[in-house]
Amino acid sequence: MNLSKLILQNFRNYEQAELEFDAGVNLIVGNNAQGKTNLLEAIGYLGSGKSFRAQRCIEMVRFGADFADCEGTVFSQERQQTLRWVIFGRGRPRQVYRNGVKKKTAGDISGVLQTVLFCPEDLMVLKAGAAPRRRLGDQALCQLRPNYEAALTEYGRILEQKSRILKDRYENPRLTELLPEYNARLCQVGALLISYRARFYEGLGKAAAVYHERFSGGAEAFALQYRTVSTVTDPFAPLADLQGQLMEHLLSHERAELESAQCLTGPHKDDFDVTLSGLSLRAYGSQGQTRTAAISLKLAQRELMGREAGEIPVLLLDDVLSELDPGRQDFVLNQISEGQVFITCCEPGQFTKLGKNIEIRSGTVLEG
Ligand code: ATP
Ligand code: MG
Repeated sequence: MNLSKLILQNFRNYEQAELEFDAGVNLIVGNNAQGKTNLLEAIGYLGSGKSFRAQRCIEMVRFGADFADCEGTVFSQERQQTLRWVIFGRGRPRQVYRNGVKKKTAGDISGVLQTVLFCPEDLMVLKAGAAPRRRLGDQALCQLRPNYEAALTEYGRILEQKSRILKDRYENPRLTELLPEYNARLCQVGALLISYRARFYEGLGKAAAVYHERFSGGAEAFALQYRTVSTVTDPFAPLADLQGQLMEHLLSHERAELESAQCLTGPHKDDFDVTLSGLSLRAYGSQGQTRTAAISLKLAQRELMGREAGEIPVLLLDDVLSELDPGRQDFVLNQISEGQVFITCCEPGQFTKLGKNIEIRSGTVLEG
């Protein structure tokens, strides 16, 4: 799949812009704060209705404007298609169109334009805390499995309600009576999350291992282990078994939860660990190994999505290439020779050999 044209109106710092892209590599060059990341955000949003940086849609509407309009021409599913989003200010729902026909939800356009984002924060994610790592995995899995996303949202909602009960029960002790019901629901939906994650991380780990071994010239064996609640003996087990094991862990932490007024157990604490030739990357990995493994993970994510959809997703590399040494840059560029890629960087001339160059200055496009 590829994006051939993008028309922006009042999107972030773009008042009016029309861009045409190459089906291969597109290099977006410009100084800081000119609108490079905004452009990648628009591309990501076009395909998914989700921004990788905005908390609320209104942030994408240009300051002082009433609405933002983002329209693109995509070649995918063996034909040319158009997607369009109109985002209004407060109070009015956004609109989405596919081939000129108004659709109800983002789900109605799913699969037309899929993107994978890779940004500098991702490079050290394997050394970071569990939360960003979990977020990275969750985002990838949500893109792959819409039903997982629904379950994750549901889980988050129950968890939030339970947290509120744990905090409010000091003032209203009778709330405690509600906890068993919330715990049962948490275990039910939690089991589903674990089941999805076990399968996803297995596939991701296998695909990443191939990239990493190629990358390290066969010197390092990459392995990924999914980590979940300690009472879960096999995350691939039937849901009923997982549910029982989650409940067992919950009950053994019941008092601690009441005392701390926090939800201490469940898959919201899940994580994954990478080892290189048996050694934990988090504990022993060098910076270079950590970056290499992160690149392998991202390329693996793109591969899994491509396998599922039968088309390679568009890759968005935000500032990431200039963070890498020449050897790693070459590796990434060789591995992504297929499919469409957008690369942002600040220095003109750094990657001029590659595909199409587009220069951005204060939300204006100067094509080179
Ligand atoms: P860097 O190289 O530093 O990453 P960049 O080119 O990626 O820079 P962007 O993040 O794309 O920069 O653009 C940032 C600019 O867009 C900022 O100057 C910001 O003020 C502006 N901007 C963000 N949202 C809006 C908006 N809703 N309306 C107008 N301008 C906005
Ligand atoms: Mg940027």
